Amino acid sequence: MPSTKEHYHRQALRGQRPSTLATGAGRMGRGGKNLAPAHGFNRHMSGIVSDIQRFSVHDGPGIRTTVFLKGCQMRCRWCHNPEALRPGPELQLFLDKCIGCGTCFKVCPRGAHGMESGRRVFHRQRCTACGTCARSCYAEALVLVGRQMTAAEVLAEAVQDREFYADSDGGVTISGGEPIFQPAFAREILALCREAGIHTAIETNLAWPWEQVESVLGVTDLVMADIKMMDPAAHRQWTGVTNDMILDNVQRLGRAGRPLVIRTPVIPGVNDTASEIGRVGSLLAGLANLLYYELLPHNPLAAGKYESLGMEQDEFSAPRGVSDKMNALAAEAGKSGVPVRVAGTKG
Ligand code: SF4
Ligand code: SF4
Repeated sequence: MPSTKEHYHRQALRGQRPSTLATGAGRMGRGGKNLAPAHGFNRHMSGIVSDIQRFSVHDGPGIRTTVFLKGCQMRCRWCHNPEALRPGPELQLFLDKCIGCGTCFKVCPRGAHGMESGRRVFHRQRCTACGTCARSCYAEALVLVGRQMTAAEVLAEAVQDREFYADSDGGVTISGGEPIFQPAFAREILALCREAGIHTAIETNLAWPWEQVESVLGVTDLVMADIKMMDPAAHRQWTGVTNDMILDNVQRLGRAGRPLVIRTPVIPGVNDTASEIGRVGSLLAGLANLLYYELLPHNPLAAGKYESLGMEQDEFSAPRGVSDKMNALAAEAGKSGVPVRVAGTKG
């Protein structure tokens, strides 16, 4: 017979809601704290979504729908979702797809597109993100990223794959950007999904006052959070914020008992050392609710996205996917006794 803790972890790893976190009003957390949402549903609550990906297998257990909310308070220099960083809708221009037909020059009411000195130009500061040009571009060189949706509309997309969630122990994951950048909207989506019997997860950077994190916990079955590095000064240098709230929130999540996955994107020349990854492993050793610690190989495929948004990107050269180095770092973190995975492997 597995112990209660093993049973609880197996349920969470399969994307099932542990019996101690059963749905419904009046759910009680540790210490008798009520974890149910303290408000009625507001299906018409709206927010900005950058993308919805169905059949995702990288954002939590099973087959999932991942909802990417727009906006993030951090600026990690290796971010591979730059289109989700800024809060509002914005236009992407993929120059390699532009065939120079000139349609967008004519339809833009702001004169943002054109040719100058024989060169294709886009005056981003004139753009109001109305989307007219994107709808007219048959070459699909223009993409408007960021759409206003209600929580009910997000749910309507998510429930389409309910059978796949059931078959695979999957569910819905709110990602970003940063989900807690739009906390009320994120909470509403999660609450509606839970009400519909769908397992819920968030992927968060945790760089928020605890009250903000706690505001979504009651409707979240699984928290996936990043610890990018341990040194506060280096953290600020590479991400724009210090890590004090993140590290504090990890401990608080440990006390809250919510199933937790901690991840570290391993960035060459930034945090890819045994000492750095080993320190994270040691920090996690005391967390009873940690399902596993996951190392994410750097994804260098975002260059075209940065260019399409008129943003600068830092270069980090890395072998793609799992390497001997990633396995060695995982072994280092594992010395503290925590279960460690490298993304892209079965673990
Ligand atoms: S409509 Fe599209 S393909 Fe035509 S010029 Fe504009 S961006 Fe290029
Ligand atoms: S989104 Fe609207 S304002 Fe912006 S470039 Fe296109 S047509 Fe012009």
